[in-house]
Parts: sequence; structure tokens; C-alpha cells
Amino acid sequence: MPQIYPIFPNGFAANSYLVTEDGKQAVCIDPASPRILAEAQRRGLDVKFVLLTHGHFDHVGGCAAFSQTGAKIGCLAAEKALAEEHNLGAEFGMPVPPFRVDFTFSDGDELSLAGMTFQVIATAGHTVGSVCFLLPQAEGVCSHSPAPLGGKVPQAEGVCYHLPAPLGGKVPQAEGGCLYSLFTGDTLFRESVGRTDLPTGSVARLHESLARLCALPFDCKLFPGHGEISTLSYEKTHNGYLKW
Ligand SMILES: [Zn+2]
Repeated sequence: MPQIYPIFPNGFAANSYLVTEDGKQAVCIDPASPRILAEAQRRGLDVKFVLLTHGHFDHVGGCAAFSQTGAKIGCLAAEKALAEEHNLGAEFGMPVPPFRVDFTFSDGDELSLAGMTFQVIATAGHTVGSVCFLLPQAEGVCSHSPAPLGGKVPQAEGVCYHLPAPLGGKVPQAEGGCLYSLFTGDTLFRESVGRTDLPTGSVARLHESLARLCALPFDCKLFPGHGEISTLSYEKTHNGYLKW
């Protein structure tokens, strides 16, 4: 089962996450600063890939450092120019060491990286190319079909978690947690959402994206770009922005 190491910022920056299946190779989501590389090395993790939830300066400050180690950096195709050239670092007085995006992906893609599969959910609104990454948390594969989002449905031992349950039925969860992890960037926070007043932002598109996340037929543990870790079910009840 993948292990997720959150790294919370010193001062103003995004949350960063190191994700590993085997304790050796890892994926970094949103390296806020060069410090994240040091944190990976301290844990003995070789970060092979960097995934960006979007291109803002406070999420990409460590990209150049990771590039120098050979890690490949990916973002949604629609976000590439923003990440490389218009990340607002200069405007906010926090310039970002230059870097290039090595690969791009699209909504619905399944990214097989370092022995894990991340599903891309495009969630425009905070920026035009914002995404969330969905990561199955349990081992095993459900043989039922169709699977949600065209992907694999994780299955706890002896129990099928194929969803959706009819008529709003209770969503089963593995003991002690959710079956999926969702990295939400600046789309969805604990009891809040990302701002939409920066270039390429759109409140209407954010609304659509939040509705899309709320329609996921299972609960997820949320790993947001800022603030505390949460769950989708908690946000559905407590986050006023999901009640528009
Ligand atoms: Zn942002």
C-alpha cells in the first residue's frame, strides 16, 4: 500500500507530499521548495517523478532542484505555460528557479509512476489547468465492472468495494481510513476552496469541478495544497463552498 509523507511548509508555501510504494522510489506532489528534495533524501527516497496540481509559484519552487537529480516533472497540458513562465513568483516577490515541464497529461489519464497508479481528474477553476490526483489506497482489484473513473477499484480482503451503492447507500470504507487518497492542490481545502481571482481562474469552472469531486462514488482522504488533511465526506458536511 502506498505511503504518503506530508511535508508542511515553513511560512508561506504549499503542502508537499512524498508518495512511495516500495520505500525507495517516490513521486513528489507539488514540491514547494528545494527543502522538499532534502526531506526526500533524508527519508532515503529517490524521487523519480514530480506531479503538479497546478503551476503557481508556491507549489513549484522545488522543481528545478528535482530536475537536476533527473526527476521528470509533469502537469496538465493546459497548465504547462503557467507553470514554466507565468507562475506569479515575481509578482508575489518569491521568484521560482526556472524549470521545464518534461511531460504532460490529460483528464482521465492513469499515470503509472514508481509502481503506483495516479488517476488525473481535471479540476479547472483555481487555474485553467488545475488537477486532482486520485490514488487507490488498498491492495487488490475488484473484478466488477465498470470501475469508477475507468480505473481499478481497490478491494479489501474478502470484501468487494465496488460502487456506487444504489440510492445513496452507505459507502464502505476500509477499517481506519478511506480506500482512496485525493491530492486536491488549491481546488479543495479543509472547510475552504482555492481563490479564483488570479489569471486563468474561474469561479464557474471551480463550481463545476467541486461538483465533480462531490460526485465521486466513494470517500477519499484529502491531501490539500494548503491547510489540514481532511476527507471528502467531512467536506461534504462542513465545507460551505460545497453547498452552493
Ligand atoms: Zn495556487
